[in-house]
Amino acid sequence: MNRFVPAFSLILALTAAAFGGLVASESSEGNSAKQEQRSKDLGQRLRWKDGSIRIAVSDSFESSTNIKFGSDVSGAIERSLAAWRSVSAVDLVSVSSERDSVSPSGNAGDGVSLLTIAGTSENVLFFAGAADLLSAKTRVFYNRRGQITEADIVLNPFAQFSTDGTYGTFDLEATLRHEIGHLLGLTHSEVAGSTMYASVTRIGALGSRPVRGLLSADDVSTVRALYGSPEDEERCCSVITGRLTFSGKAHRDISIWVQEKVSGRVVGSAKLARNRSFKIAGLYSGDYEVYANENSPGKASQTQFLGEVTVAERKSSVIVSRFAKRR
Ligand SMILES: [Zn+2]
Repeated sequence: MNRFVPAFSLILALTAAAFGGLVASESSEGNSAKQEQRSKDLGQRLRWKDGSIRIAVSDSFESSTNIKFGSDVSGAIERSLAAWRSVSAVDLVSVSSERDSVSPSGNAGDGVSLLTIAGTSENVLFFAGAADLLSAKTRVFYNRRGQITEADIVLNPFAQFSTDGTYGTFDLEATLRHEIGHLLGLTHSEVAGSTMYASVTRIGALGSRPVRGLLSADDVSTVRALYGSPEDEERCCSVITGRLTFSGKAHRDISIWVQEKVSGRVVGSAKLARNRSFKIAGLYSGDYEVYANENSPGKASQTQFLGEVTVAERKSSVIVSRFAKRR
């Protein structure tokens, strides 16, 4: 059933009605369902045309009272960029800027990708109604070709951040690493423990501890699916595509993930598109197991083993499987 085929691109359902700004919100209580659904409908499609991205770091970081005094701010910013730069072919460069305020909403930004924590009225407005929940927000501007043209990251000027694990604060580096992921075009992951996991919590909440400087294998494959691996990485990147069959016409909310056969480690994930296909790229060659889980509110989640797949270096493998009836 499994066979090698030349790499091909999968047509994912593109349901967004308009092009313009896409906002990713962070919440310590759960994510914004509407925005998250919209970015899921878009799939992992938005990307910068080339991987060379300049980020203007606002002077507001130097004097912010929202960051615990004595924090290693520039180190946190640099490490959050390096985390993504070291595993993919993106060239993230930071430059200092006197700008403070996020671009106003609308179809076009101001051309500057700004990272700011300033408490200006524009930035406060950006968090309207959610200032007590969010650690940060990222707004991505993109054109009709799905190319990101600008992305602004605003750290909530009402939240507190630290770099030393202070109770009740958000970890500055973990927050930035997650938002840089959005800036690159990544949406949320359902893989717990990954940088792009939806829920960002304050230190101490539910015993959470920030993991510094580490991207999960799922984060790595996702960013490599968009930008490829660094030049010195020879084993990357392979692709697993697939299709699920099931009766009925209704779309089902199904998550797919790929585990390394030997270790059981989750190395990639995707949502089933409306045409019942999925694509998980940016993988190393190897032997994998593929699983699917249906998320139906109010019902026990339904996990199914779809099969084993072997994928060769820089090749694509296909898996087609019947998904169980809705229970
Ligand atoms: Zn997020």
